[in-house]
Amino acid sequence: MTPWTGLTNQTPLQKFLDSRNTAEYQVRHGEIARMDEAEMLNSYDLTECKHCGSTDFISYGRNRYGVKRYRCKSCGKLFSIVTNTVFDNHKIPISEWMEFMLGVFRFQSFQSIGRSLRITDTTVKYWISKLFLLLSDYQNDIVLRGDVQIDETFYKVIKKDIRKRDETHEYRGLSKNQICIGIGCDASHTLCIIEGYGKPSRKSTAEVFSNHIEHGSNLTHDEEKAHNILVEMLGLSSRTFNAKALKGIKDDDNPLDKINEKCRLLKRFLYAHSGFDRSCLQDYLNLFSFICNPPCDHFEKVEKLLLIALKSPNLLKYRDACWF
Ligand SMILES: [Zn+2]
Repeated sequence: MTPWTGLTNQTPLQKFLDSRNTAEYQVRHGEIARMDEAEMLNSYDLTECKHCGSTDFISYGRNRYGVKRYRCKSCGKLFSIVTNTVFDNHKIPISEWMEFMLGVFRFQSFQSIGRSLRITDTTVKYWISKLFLLLSDYQNDIVLRGDVQIDETFYKVIKKDIRKRDETHEYRGLSKNQICIGIGCDASHTLCIIEGYGKPSRKSTAEVFSNHIEHGSNLTHDEEKAHNILVEMLGLSSRTFNAKALKGIKDDDNPLDKINEKCRLLKRFLYAHSGFDRSCLQDYLNLFSFICNPPCDHFEKVEKLLLIALKSPNLLKYRDACWF
């Protein structure tokens, strides 16, 4: 909508701007995108009912977007490839969702992508909640191997949650006001999990990393004593460096460069989403891990997510989105 939409007394310039705007809007939400999309979606064969899992179903025409529909003989319900997925009842083409995801991968904030694509806040909120749900198990199977580096990075709680020593003084240093994030990487993958508040302990270190590092790997890390539990549990060979002493050493010569770079990147990512609900921090970390990990190409990432989304049957539960 422009200020001149629907007015009968538009100047030629206003008319031009308004029609450009409308044309662009229609292309984005347009029928062409819909037709391509239906063709793509129809290329998938469904093997079971999206509601009850029965294999006894029949073709039942197409929906208004041209996507094939089926009717289940067991539960009687209609379904299509997008039933119960993020694209269920979608009013917006998948191509737009793709644009949205490409923005997310470039570390744009959800809010700004939504604005530039002219997607309503409600839709953005819905997409984010579904995206987080899709990625909620994403890191479960990540196992770092070979040359592994780990570290902790800290993220301050939001203002209203800050605990104070007394009326005017906050706790200093790595206090309860700092959320501790365990971060690890090897040659190809990045892992990123909340450890708790304040300094890491042996227990929190084991909880975060012990299932995600292959036995016998080579661990490079700072002199955090809590890490030793991993060396003991997993029979790791360990190289430690004094992080402070390495400060100022050029990246290539810094043995902790890789993990330092991940920490910097994570800070940048979270900064783009600053102000988000901290109770969703792990969701953001899952997304960060997904962005860091293969495939590198952003379109291949979109493809991967789409495949997860279309296959994933677990998108029924709706959870309040945490965003912005
Ligand atoms: Zn069924």
